[in-house]
Amino acid sequence: MLDQTSQWYKLQYPECFVNEEQRMMQKVFADFTDREIMPVRDKLDDDVTHEEIITPILKKLQVDLGCQKNAIPKDYGGNQLPLVACALKQEQIGRGDYGISMHSACTEWGWVPVMLAYLSPPPTGKAWAKAVLDEFAPRFVGNELRVACVNMSETESACDIENPLNESRTVGVRAKLEGNEWVINGNKFWASNAGIADLNCVVCNMDPRQGIDAFTLIYVPEPLPGVSHGKFEVKCGMQSDRNTSTYFDNVRVPREWGIQGPEAWAIFQNTLAAPMPLNSAHAVGILQGAFDTLLEYTGQRVAGGKPINQHLSAAAILGEMASVITVGRAAFLELAHEYDHMDIYGPWDSVSMVAKGHAVHVFTTGKLPELILKGMELMGSYGYVRENHYEKYYRDAAVAKLVLGGVQLGYFATCRQFYDLDYSSFGPGKLQKPA
Ligand SMILES: Cc1cc2nc3c(=O)[nH]c(=O)nc-3n(C[C@H](O)[C@H](O)[C@H](O)COP(=O)(O)OP(=O)(O)OC[C@H]3O[C@@H](n4cnc5c(N)ncnc54)[C@H](O)[C@@H]3O)c2cc1C
Repeated sequence: MLDQTSQWYKLQYPECFVNEEQRMMQKVFADFTDREIMPVRDKLDDDVTHEEIITPILKKLQVDLGCQKNAIPKDYGGNQLPLVACALKQEQIGRGDYGISMHSACTEWGWVPVMLAYLSPPPTGKAWAKAVLDEFAPRFVGNELRVACVNMSETESACDIENPLNESRTVGVRAKLEGNEWVINGNKFWASNAGIADLNCVVCNMDPRQGIDAFTLIYVPEPLPGVSHGKFEVKCGMQSDRNTSTYFDNVRVPREWGIQGPEAWAIFQNTLAAPMPLNSAHAVGILQGAFDTLLEYTGQRVAGGKPINQHLSAAAILGEMASVITVGRAAFLELAHEYDHMDIYGPWDSVSMVAKGHAVHVFTTGKLPELILKGMELMGSYGYVRENHYEKYYRDAAVAKLVLGGVQLGYFATCRQFYDLDYSSFGPGKLQKPA
């Protein structure tokens, strides 16, 4: 239970980063997690169809608590939440289940491109955002569960698409304009919420030879003729988060739902930066969930004649976990605060902000798996059994550091702050640029 009156809480979530309204929201999500997710967290990965446990929880979170409109502008009935509030939410939900948290975060992410364009000055982006919001926002602010998706990754190239040095030349999904319509062809893979999304933001390129000039972002609703999916991936964990392929076969949408060229590219780069504080918050939430489980177990279980947590070897592991939680939390809160004050700290897609975002992200997500595995030693065989709640965090931890380009791409982006590192996919001994 989150005790907002304790001194430890105040030190962990300082007033300079978290205001009163955000604190109230955090409490709502903490209580939601304790009430709705914790009692069933060991059963979520067995709910293969999602009908029994997962979808009812998502309805409560996304519709009743209004999270599916978190990234929709207030002008359209949305919550337009700052990133600090979103990060606090992700930490609390992630403490219970990373999959549910990822589902919710990715619906927000699906709206980030238009939210950014709507709130920025350039008129082309604003007109695009308005067209998309006019058409689709009303569906997301109602009482039905709605799902959004950023459909970017492809089988041949996922990191390569997220790698800004490639200037979108590896994007395989093609868009072309025919009269007043976009026609889309190609395949996507891996996106969270794919296959259940009502709305996809699809990353395309009109002509990879032209790179950024031909880069295109197009919103595609579902169901729609020509859009189909593969089977849902069976993963190590994270059952509540759906991932599958999306096939686009001569899919047609109105011209005003797409935006192309450098403006679209800038929106995409900012969209790629947005999850850095949020997935870092997930990582801290996962670690907190594992730590709480471990603290309780090691305080009760006696081995070697005393409670396990009284052995110094165990205390060293618990202390290390608490230390990484403290530093990770401070880092994601500071980062989210900086994102929320672009006027002071600069745009999200600047070299320095991208470096900072990745630096925080690779630290928090990279530390997770080894620490949680170390902690499992303290539970002995009990840590490996589903109903004791620990092994779930171990499985969730493994994937947190694979998303968003993974740890390697994150380090490369961080280095760009200090020197001109070339990690593009093109050049001698690598791919040839499309000719
Ligand atoms: C649970 C989950 C949710 C996801 N959600 C989404 C989503 O919502 N939308 C979406 O579009 N995608 C999503 N993805 C895909 C995700 O973004 C990619 O999986 C991720 O970027 C890694 O791509 P990949 O798995 O194809 O690895 P690859 O691209 O094959 O990369 C493999 C390895 O190579 C490293 N690498 C990359 N570039 C370089 C380089 N230049 N030099 C050296 N090494 C390099 C990487 O760091 C990685 O370690 C999701 C994936 C998962 C597992």
